[in-house]
Amino acid sequence: MARPLFQALPGTRDLLPPDTDRMRELVSRFAERAITAGFGLVVPPMFEDIGVFVRLGEASDVVSKELYDFEDKGGRHIALRPEQTASVCRIYAEARPTTPWKAWYAGPNFRYDKPQAGRYRQFDQVGAEVIGSHDPDVDVELIALAARFFRDIGLTRVRLLLNSLGDGADRPRYLDALRAHFESDVGALSEQSRLTLAKNPLRVLDSKRPQDLELVASAPVIVDYLSDDAGAAFERVQAGLTVLGVEFELAPRLVRGLDYYTRTTFEFAADGLESAQNAVGGGGRYDGLIADLGGPPDPGVGFALGVDRTLLACDAESAFSGPDTRIEVWIVATTGGFEATELADELRAHGIRTDRSFDGRSMKAQMKGADRSGASLALIVGADEAAAGMVSIRSLREQGAQQSLVPRSDLVTKVKEMLER
Ligand code: AMP
Repeated sequence: MARPLFQALPGTRDLLPPDTDRMRELVSRFAERAITAGFGLVVPPMFEDIGVFVRLGEASDVVSKELYDFEDKGGRHIALRPEQTASVCRIYAEARPTTPWKAWYAGPNFRYDKPQAGRYRQFDQVGAEVIGSHDPDVDVELIALAARFFRDIGLTRVRLLLNSLGDGADRPRYLDALRAHFESDVGALSEQSRLTLAKNPLRVLDSKRPQDLELVASAPVIVDYLSDDAGAAFERVQAGLTVLGVEFELAPRLVRGLDYYTRTTFEFAADGLESAQNAVGGGGRYDGLIADLGGPPDPGVGFALGVDRTLLACDAESAFSGPDTRIEVWIVATTGGFEATELADELRAHGIRTDRSFDGRSMKAQMKGADRSGASLALIVGADEAAAGMVSIRSLREQGAQQSLVPRSDLVTKVKEMLER
């Protein structure tokens, strides 16, 4: 076959059935969980003033290297959203809903990242945020929501990693200690990490470069620098998760990619995936982000889960096959009348997945279509059936099955009965 003129761009993928069915079902399972916990759906725009995202932290790769930004025809500097937390905070600052405000979302984000397995330039997330409460029980509720969701879809090899990054006042003390640690042997660090060190020593902890591993492993840990308040909150989060039986591992070096996190941070790692791309989700508190966006000084906490990567983790565990969307009934009509049109309409009204042939095909060609569709039943209406107000039903599952003749008025009942068998 000749190569088509255009193909999907690097880092983007065309999703087709059955992958799309799985994805839709995954989002709807998440929606159920979120709605059951009192979250309402928000749909932020896919692009914003670039300033909204720059607030996420200029030292993070997401902002410094990966933004899709451009000037629009009105001369505005715009960026496609790399994530949705900043937009949710911008909406909060603008709409000022009553607190605590619980919002969930689903949809694509854009990052100019190096495409590879599990890393795309357009990828989907589902997420949830709670704005306006300092209560660590909120953190517990959110983490449990994500953990329960992974369990709902049948993932068993997902670990929850938990850390606290402390408060505004704890950070500088820790950053000083961290900087001193790395500077004591700066020659041992990779060149990239030396550059990162100048901007934000915290991000050096994120480095996966082999050269950096030893210094990262011996670095001081933030939990030793927490204020009494932040320490007590972290204890409360751990106690709450324990009460719910949500297992976690303390991960003192977990800093995550974005700069805005304070206090609780967490990540979900799928052991079924390659370690470089094994994060299926993460989140934490961001107690200063809303004020940075010009809103009130209200705290927030939330998480985002990578939909594409979660599905890859499901593949690795042979979990979550997705819903059955195959056609159940195929209609074969040869009269040239409206039998197929009417029957399809009637069966569909009863929620039975039904399809038919078009273009006046022969009986034989229509039966081929029925076989190809994977339908369980074929309904056949020829001139005789039409004249008698009857329909023939043939099972396509059993070889050589007898055909039965059913009056139109009993059709739906009979079809349902046969599909249940
Ligand atoms: P982040 O917003 O960076 O905390 O990402 C949250 C989750 O989104 C990650 O744990 C991944 O599962 C997913 N994710 C982030 N970036 C990408 C990407 N480029 N491609 C696919 N999934 C991604």
